[in-house]
Amino acid sequence: MIITNKHGLPAPLVALVSRDFYSKGASQYSVTELMSPPRIRRMREQYDSKIVIDATKLIASQLGTFMHAKLEAKEMTGYTNEERIFHEIDGITISGAIDLQEQTNDGVVIIDYKFVKAWSVMQAMARNKDEWDIQLNIYKWLVETVKKQKVCGLKICAIIKDYSPHATQENYPEAEAVMLDIPMWDSVTTETYVRQRLNMHRDAKIHHEFGEELQPCTDEERWMTETVFAVKKEGRKSAIRLFSNVEEATELAEKEKGYVETRHGEPKRCTGDFCGVSNWCSQYQGEKNVTA
Ligand code: SF4
Repeated sequence: MIITNKHGLPAPLVALVSRDFYSKGASQYSVTELMSPPRIRRMREQYDSKIVIDATKLIASQLGTFMHAKLEAKEMTGYTNEERIFHEIDGITISGAIDLQEQTNDGVVIIDYKFVKAWSVMQAMARNKDEWDIQLNIYKWLVETVKKQKVCGLKICAIIKDYSPHATQENYPEAEAVMLDIPMWDSVTTETYVRQRLNMHRDAKIHHEFGEELQPCTDEERWMTETVFAVKKEGRKSAIRLFSNVEEATELAEKEKGYVETRHGEPKRCTGDFCGVSNWCSQYQGEKNVTA
């Protein structure tokens, strides 16, 4: 990966944020890698030496890493900090690094720190943040399978970077940091998920090695936003109303003597190059060529 400094940040800051703090130990897949789209994982490996990222883009995630490092050093009775648990399944070693395990009379409560924007918390409150459920349930499965300990709770400790006390949206977090309960899965459901993901990654690796096309990223993996239909009127800048359904939009447009403007959903992970490989991705580049 090539790290640039387009904004002339001081060299010590660039050196600090450029350090790779991340380790998956001796495992072949970390939990987050397992959850990541196979297409992105393979392409990032292939284009690693060509991927360019500016130091400014590393700051936000590294602030979370620094905070994690400080918390890791804060030892307290009844809590286990930052433990990486390894497990072999179908001949492949996977591992998960658990931020915090609280020992209670009922069992272990798994806590994961997230340094996020308020929007992420709102998504989670609306039960629209599957990746947090998956991640914590794999940790639960690892604790139960490897450490043979009962897990009685899963929690996210969300620290909100852009909290505003004046925000009024539904599900907006109540404070700068909030605790969120995550629903627990049974171990069969989790193990089935882990095996499915391992198979997907294994297939992608084999196909890639034989020069075959990788399986496309799904809309969910591409962070596709919804297509909406805006009812507009000549002489008015903003839309009268937005609909997810074209029939409803057309009905209102006829009533208002206006017209319907289609605002197509956007694959934000591709368009913002959040995967880092959009320049070489035939799936995304092919679509761009079609719509251009
Ligand atoms: S550009 Fe989009 S489709 Fe291609 S790898 Fe990235 S996220 Fe997936």
